[in-house]
Amino acid sequence: MSEVTVKDIIQVMDRIAPPELAEDWDPIGLSFGSVDQPVSKILLALDVDAQTIQEAKEKEVDLLITHHPAIFKSLKTLNSDDSRRRDYIELLKSDIAVYSAHTNLDAAENGLNDWLADHIGLKADKRDIVSVNARQGYKKLAVYVPDYAADKVRQALHEAGAGEIGDYKDVSYTLEGYGRFTPQAGANPTEGEIGQEEVIHEQRIEVLLKNKDVYKAIDALKTAHPYEEPVFDLYNLENQSDQFGFGRIGYVESELTTADMAERIQTLFSVDGVRYGSADDTKTHKKIAVFGGSGEKYYKDALKKDATLYITGDISYHGAQDMLRDGIDFIDAGHYMEAICVPELASRLKDQSKANGWNLEIIETNAQKDVFTYYK
Ligand SMILES: [Zn+2]
Repeated sequence: MSEVTVKDIIQVMDRIAPPELAEDWDPIGLSFGSVDQPVSKILLALDVDAQTIQEAKEKEVDLLITHHPAIFKSLKTLNSDDSRRRDYIELLKSDIAVYSAHTNLDAAENGLNDWLADHIGLKADKRDIVSVNARQGYKKLAVYVPDYAADKVRQALHEAGAGEIGDYKDVSYTLEGYGRFTPQAGANPTEGEIGQEEVIHEQRIEVLLKNKDVYKAIDALKTAHPYEEPVFDLYNLENQSDQFGFGRIGYVESELTTADMAERIQTLFSVDGVRYGSADDTKTHKKIAVFGGSGEKYYKDALKKDATLYITGDISYHGAQDMLRDGIDFIDAGHYMEAICVPELASRLKDQSKANGWNLEIIETNAQKDVFTYYK
């Protein structure tokens, strides 16, 4: 089995949580370690804190993957007279790499907010988004293929999701022309000979690609293309594709009150306490919004899209008053609700590791707990 590096793991993570979906202020990605570092054991947690660092050390972990990034505030010194800086020094001393997928995981299709909505039981063919951040767009891919392989490459691209526009599939454009190249010493050309110019009748296949499908499509084209060095161009486009953003709105199959939903959440997420506010205890909800983390300031978007109950974390006193006054009930399920990303990411990483034949151990934190305790 080949050695797995941080870079390999980042490639897998980039597909789950495309980095281009992150907010500009968000320091996602690799904050400690190097892309070339070998990895045999990964620990997954919500946060980088003293507990998870200690756990990573005890379990001899090479890479810590978290939702919340390690370094939020810029550092001016690295002296150890501060608890946060001591965490960083500990990570450096222990040679543990840290990688985080934060707002990109929140916004990703089938990312954290979809996992939350799935858990809570919010249905919809396509769930509405709270706080749309529609920066995700298209790329154009053009690839040059000898005539005999054109159909094979076109089909591989389509299977990887290229050429989907609205309700149309398998959309492509083809031009014919001549490709010229001279193989150099060391090459192993499919066509032609070393040192001789070759002219081949080729097709230029153009397809539109969603940003999220770029890696998949390039892998597919390289596998299907007969040449040692397939030539392709990837262009940025201004076209906008699907909407991306945070929070999800869906409907529940049988309507329920705010208190019923609060109970459901307490059980589902095994939390000790859930706060909620309801203008009318008997009113039932069908259309419900969930927003992982601190979503208070986006409740008006949920309201505009006709949700009557808003589930998020970190709700303030005045924020709660505003919501009730504006006619939307709320549940504060705690910021720690986001900890469901740990088992969800673990199962995706394990699947990928298995598919790639990697010798990798992936473990979930059991040292991390909610910072809040409810007195019973
Ligand atoms: Zn969060």
